[in-house]
Amino acid sequence: IPAQDIRNFSIIAHVDHGKSTLADKLLELTGTISLHQSHQQVLDKLNVERERGITIKAQTCSMFYKYKGKEYLLNLIDTPGHVDFNYEVSRSLAACQGSILLVDASQGIQAQTAANFWLAFNQDLPILPVINKIDLESANTKSVISQIENSFGLDTTDICLISAKLGINIDKILPKVIEKIPHPNGDINKPLKAFLFDSWYDTYVGVVCLMAIVDGKLQKGDKIVSAYSELKYEVSDIGIMYPEQVPTGYLHAGQVGYAILSMKVAAEAHIGDTFYHYKCPVEPLPGFEPAKPMVFAGIFPVDANEFNKLDESIKKLTLNDASVSVQKETSMALGQGWRIGFLGTLHMDVFQQRLEEEYDASVIVTQPTVPYKIVYRDGKSKFVRNPSEFPDPDEMSYNVVELQEPMVMATIILPNDYMGVIMDLCGGKRGEQVDYNSLDEHRVMMRYTLPLSEIVTDFHDELKSRSSGYASFDYEDMGYKASDVVKMNLLINKKPVDALAAILHRSQVQIVGRDWAKRLSEVIPKQLYEVAIQTAIGGKVIARETISALRKNVTAKCYGGDVTRKMKLLEKQKEGKKKMKMIGNVELPQKAFYDFLSKG
Ligand code: GDP
Ligand code: MG
Repeated sequence: IPAQDIRNFSIIAHVDHGKSTLADKLLELTGTISLHQSHQQVLDKLNVERERGITIKAQTCSMFYKYKGKEYLLNLIDTPGHVDFNYEVSRSLAACQGSILLVDASQGIQAQTAANFWLAFNQDLPILPVINKIDLESANTKSVISQIENSFGLDTTDICLISAKLGINIDKILPKVIEKIPHPNGDINKPLKAFLFDSWYDTYVGVVCLMAIVDGKLQKGDKIVSAYSELKYEVSDIGIMYPEQVPTGYLHAGQVGYAILSMKVAAEAHIGDTFYHYKCPVEPLPGFEPAKPMVFAGIFPVDANEFNKLDESIKKLTLNDASVSVQKETSMALGQGWRIGFLGTLHMDVFQQRLEEEYDASVIVTQPTVPYKIVYRDGKSKFVRNPSEFPDPDEMSYNVVELQEPMVMATIILPNDYMGVIMDLCGGKRGEQVDYNSLDEHRVMMRYTLPLSEIVTDFHDELKSRSSGYASFDYEDMGYKASDVVKMNLLINKKPVDALAAILHRSQVQIVGRDWAKRLSEVIPKQLYEVAIQTAIGGKVIARETISALRKNVTAKCYGGDVTRKMKLLEKQKEGKKKMKMIGNVELPQKAFYDFLSKG
């Protein structure tokens, strides 16, 4: 099929606006899937994805469609549906020549609609607005049309008004795609230039790469090289997604499909990378960035005996996921574990959920930390991804000139009535308003700069609950900014617990310090003596809670005896039972950490 008869397009939308439903309807219309298959929502695959209604791993699919007597090859390039994966969205868009912007007729433009629009707009892609769910009684099509005109400046003269669910006007979409979206204009006679925009790990065949062939031709047996890693691979299978992998033996300029390159782990497939023929290097495509985890947490087995099993499970899960980073970590309090880096908190939740569901693991996850930048007197700098790496007070005063934290630009869309409460929320999270615009008479779009650390905790939940679910938000990276951050320790009878340290902004130390001391005191079982729980910055105590000692009769046998004798006694009792952790002279069940951290 010549490049003139190919269209590569994507559907961009806010979550729940009907992207998967529309994609399924298009596959059905073109006979790519049968009616029966479509009910299973072919394009959403992982269990967690179905549960949460979001697409994490994008699913791309080819369709054949006859229009005005000519057969076209249409490649629908799916994009992940969550802000954690914005880089991947931008790379998927880079493989397209145009996008359908799908908007729910009753909800109107939401934060992700705007964020995705700007991603596509900045890549100069033609954007076809489509309004979905016109069947709903609450549909307000007129207002949504004017939102699209006013906010995005898009031409809406012959906008498609559809119901993906009921199949109304679905047939109007593909003719528009063919007419309004340009064909890819690569040159089949030039040297190979292939663009990797998605990948996943398949237990049977290994790493599957999705490629857009920009120039030239890629065939089975070809030897190709990654522009980023300079590693060489041989193409062992190649073809199109229709909707599963269908081998074709080759892909030529303009086409989109899969290639299997005998990569061992998903981490070798760098999204945004360019491949060329061995000994025939070409200029790589712009916009590549290596995966950049932004949220780090310690993961520890609840039961230390599970360490090896958990190690295996984590290895298997990371085979699958190129964007997590893993390092071993040892904690005095929690024993051996890992420090894992994620793209965002959803990514972290999904990882934890998959560990628990697919690998039957129970884990303790520490408070997430973003990477802080430490700038030294000599001009050098380093990133700290674990409170334990934070400079101590001495080093701070002699060697450190500045601490910096990562910032984001957040876009929030909400009904006017909730503006006050949401402005309070953002203010409390150290946000600064950049601008605001009305979308229509009922809704506004506000933009704020916020520290990333503030939105990786409970920002999204708070936003939803304070706005009765009406506010939506999305964000993008804004680099680093100087910030007065400190390390807060939790101490049990004066001993700091490494796994419970946190890096915080100084303005939050009081509130968080009191809250943590209180919550920790609630999960620690009573001991033979009084236990003091304190939060402190360096030597300065912020808050204190006291857990009174057990009453005499309960522990009559060893009360008053020396500590070593009592410890020996306890040691015996523990045999065969779950391990306790000693923090100084206080014994803590691993479950106390679990309870404390999971209720954060
Ligand atoms: P996605 O998150 O954008 O992929 O959205 P889905 O395709 O999963 O759809 C979200 C919800 O909206 C599902 O419950 C769909 O059944 C429903 N939905 C999708 N299209 C329509 C439509 O045209 N009309 C109505 N009433 N519901 C729809
Ligand atoms: Mg979906």
